[in-house]
Amino acid sequence: MARYTKANCKLCRREGEKLFLKGHRCSTDKCAFEKRGFAPGQHGQSRRFKVSNYGIQLREKQKVRRTYGVLEKQFRNYFEKADMKVGVTGENLLQMLECRFDNIVYRLGFAPSRKAARQLVKHGHFTIDGKNVDIPSYQIKPGNLIKVKDKSKALDIIHSSIKEFGQTDQIAWLRLNKAALEGEVIEIPKRQDIPISANEQLIVELYSK
Ligand code: SF4
Repeated sequence: MARYTKANCKLCRREGEKLFLKGHRCSTDKCAFEKRGFAPGQHGQSRRFKVSNYGIQLREKQKVRRTYGVLEKQFRNYFEKADMKVGVTGENLLQMLECRFDNIVYRLGFAPSRKAARQLVKHGHFTIDGKNVDIPSYQIKPGNLIKVKDKSKALDIIHSSIKEFGQTDQIAWLRLNKAALEGEVIEIPKRQDIPISANEQLIVELYSK
């Protein structure tokens, strides 16, 4: 599966806000955005031109797409599925992105970033309802039980991450059992329960042209 392999920090600088793509580093003074909070490239500091409506919509889409680490075609597919579902398209889109297996592993705190979560999933360190699943885009449903496999319970990355990030008190739709290294999605999150600063309506407008 294709994936983005270039510098993550440039993505934050390009979008003009922290996307928290690198786990622990993002909360330290090593964060590139804290040091150079302007767009990358030769003219990054001198870009002052007026941004069109299209430009604003495009940036919002890129920000959300990059936050969840999905490529353009896959993001478009999510939008088309969201558009066909009953309900508000923008909210449907964010719900589908939130319910990706790699995102849930990250939200539960088993990995410090979505990128690390994707790698852990692909390397087969988790089960869903007792079955091996190694597909990062797998859609988790309410009631699915995600467990770290017994053979993976000694992994340092999981332990250090759960220690630092394994707090789901702020995320009411998740349940985490730290001792057992397992977690569950209690319900599909509503928009106000999805901790991402985005105006998804701009994405809907962009793709509806
Ligand atoms: Fe973004 Fe994290 Fe890099 Fe900071 S350290 S620029 S938040 S990816």
